[in-house]
Amino acid sequence: MTMAVCFRCGGLKFGAFTACPACMHRPRNDDELAQSLALSDHNLDSDALDRMSERIRSGESVPVDPTLRLQMLRALDGEPGVRGWLDMANSPREKYPPAIDVVRDFWRLMNTNDFGRVAEVLSEKFVLEWPQSRERIRGAERFARMNAEYPGAGPWSFTINRIVGAKDTAVTVVTVTDGVTTAVAVSFFIVREGKITKLIEYWPEPYPAPAHRSHLVEPLE
Ligand SMILES: [Zn+2]
Repeated sequence: MTMAVCFRCGGLKFGAFTACPACMHRPRNDDELAQSLALSDHNLDSDALDRMSERIRSGESVPVDPTLRLQMLRALDGEPGVRGWLDMANSPREKYPPAIDVVRDFWRLMNTNDFGRVAEVLSEKFVLEWPQSRERIRGAERFARMNAEYPGAGPWSFTINRIVGAKDTAVTVVTVTDGVTTAVAVSFFIVREGKITKLIEYWPEPYPAPAHRSHLVEPLE
């Protein structure tokens, strides 16, 4: 079985052209097929695949050099069934990635701590609302500045605990930490044409278990 790395999220998968189990992305055109083949054990040994996976997960982009791309495209021509993979990926033809892919990209870019890059997945009309503090922030630039200026002990990491999505919406539960402070964010995203237009975010705080229901509950570990 072919081992491969998803070029979009860095996840490991079986088969170069299959959908990634982590982000659900499938290669959709010749370039993406070539890139997927370049990130498979057709081209790299398992150590090199692990290293690529790490680099992509950390937010680095790993472009395929033009010579290798040509080689991979030639290999594709000799590969029976490749066109079938493309047909599967493109039917029904979708112009924009589903919200869940865009939101995974959002958190991948947040993890780089290069917050200006997050603009790649934000709409020009991007608005973020925090209902608890009754604040709204508009635009990718202010969003990037707010994150860059946020007082922290070191680089921030963002771990997706849960993600659910439909065509235009996705919801994540993410643990955020700088190694000293840890918090959880519940984030509701609205995505239009592949870009996040709105984010509504809640920061739940723990609280002590009320006594009035203690006879009905058990503690969560
Ligand atoms: Zn993936």
